[in-house]
Amino acid sequence: MPVPRLRNYIGGEWVEAQTDEYDDVINPARGELLAQVPLSTSADIDRAVSSAREAFPEWRNTPPAARARYLFRLKELMEERFDELAEAQTREHGKTIDESRGETRRGIEQVEVATGIPTLMQGYNLEDIAAGIDEHCFFQPIGVFSHIAPFNFPFMVPLWFVPYAIATGNTFVVKPSPRVPLSQTRIIELFEEVDLPPGVLNMVHGANEATNALLHHPDVAGVTFVGSTAVGRDIIYKTCGQTGKRVIAQCGAKNFIVVMEDCDLEKSMAGLMTSFFGNTGQRCLAGANLVLVGGDAFYKRAVDAFIEAAAAIRVGDGMDESVQMGPLQNGASKQRVLGYIEKGIREGAALALDGRKLRLTDPDLPEDCFLNPSVFVDVTPQMTIAREEIFGPVASILRAKDLDQAIGMIHDSPYGNAAALYTSSGQAAQKFRHDVKCGNIGVNIGIPAPMAFFPFSGMKDSFFGALHGQGRDVIRFFTEAKVVVERWF
Ligand code: NAD
Repeated sequence: MPVPRLRNYIGGEWVEAQTDEYDDVINPARGELLAQVPLSTSADIDRAVSSAREAFPEWRNTPPAARARYLFRLKELMEERFDELAEAQTREHGKTIDESRGETRRGIEQVEVATGIPTLMQGYNLEDIAAGIDEHCFFQPIGVFSHIAPFNFPFMVPLWFVPYAIATGNTFVVKPSPRVPLSQTRIIELFEEVDLPPGVLNMVHGANEATNALLHHPDVAGVTFVGSTAVGRDIIYKTCGQTGKRVIAQCGAKNFIVVMEDCDLEKSMAGLMTSFFGNTGQRCLAGANLVLVGGDAFYKRAVDAFIEAAAAIRVGDGMDESVQMGPLQNGASKQRVLGYIEKGIREGAALALDGRKLRLTDPDLPEDCFLNPSVFVDVTPQMTIAREEIFGPVASILRAKDLDQAIGMIHDSPYGNAAALYTSSGQAAQKFRHDVKCGNIGVNIGIPAPMAFFPFSGMKDSFFGALHGQGRDVIRFFTEAKVVVERWF
């Protein structure tokens, strides 16, 4: 079978990228070549932005309820193709099929919420602000928006933005991660099936050049980015400031999970495993630092239970229903995680569970991308493994004498994406949610992922911008407020 060469989608047509440079898209569990993805150029971006700009006037004048109807049809198609969409994610990303089903559901929820646009986009007004004078506030679409996607949720993350942008009457260019371009390609094919007018949604595959072209294009009004802090802060946010674009930059994380002695450890363990090792640790909401607060006996009991549960996680090809953790998304990711494990050992932490010793469900799988869960104990907050985002299946266990010290550790971290507290104390939970400077707080929930109708609220180095993705924030992001003051003689 010849390997497919992916094409861009511009103005309702599938077109070859204007480049000779292609990257391989590889199934990390099996090592098989799935496709080749073009590293498109600024000429490709220019073509896509022109097409989006041309489509904008007619699309913005299409009534919101009519725009929403495309999304109702899209939602139906996504439900029909649910299994196929989930399988595509597992093949290109490596996550387990169950995790892909979860991702598919979360993506569809975004489409569902965006169908409410005739209500969500409503403005407000007041009669008689002075005698015989009324004032109205409308929210209007702006023009061409774009999305630059990360590799870790190839289906869901672009859907944090695309449905809302087009529902509000904007047109769009999406650039998938070149590591996982196939799920986004399927989304575009579904939009094509619902006959979305040409030019409203365009897709350009690529990497740095395509990103930079979007950041500098004068006809792009705004950029939505999800990815690492280094790129989000130093390239995306900075350049959008220089080029005068709206920006949402949702970035990296180092999340603390605080477990108090008064929690129900047994009931908490499944959630802790999902938090630290779900999606092979490649999640911006993943637990990374486990902070235990309690006496010596509790500390020992918690460490033993955590390590026992982590060691029992079945690692293999995510297409196998019995597998609980898939591979890292590519060999470079595995090497990066190995580098952190070595650094942790060098800096004096004790590797109590060594995930480098592979225990795969199928010994014939290629080892290039696999690691089993690793657990470090005797970690201090200053160590590199406690400070930097590892983005892999590695847990660092720290100890705090009380909740205040644990909260202090969270505040010393440059990141502020998520934090969770496991406790049976309402008072501790209330203090935690009030004091902790993180955008997403879990109480006895290890992955506090906001639903589509709430904002995705990172703080500190985890977010750059003002309005967040999802919820009411994203509707405001994609619209401009216009006020009309009106009198009739
Ligand atoms: P990344 O920053 O490497 O890449 C993200 C996007 O930026 C990709 O489309 C890539 O092509 C582009 N890009 C990368 N380097 C670039 C450069 N030098 N110039 C121009 N464009 C460039 O991120 P990733 O590895 O794909 O994703 C993982 C990161 O995303 C993690 O840090 C994770 O925490 C973060 N993330 C954050 C959230 C959130 O909501 N805060 C959600 C998911 C992932």
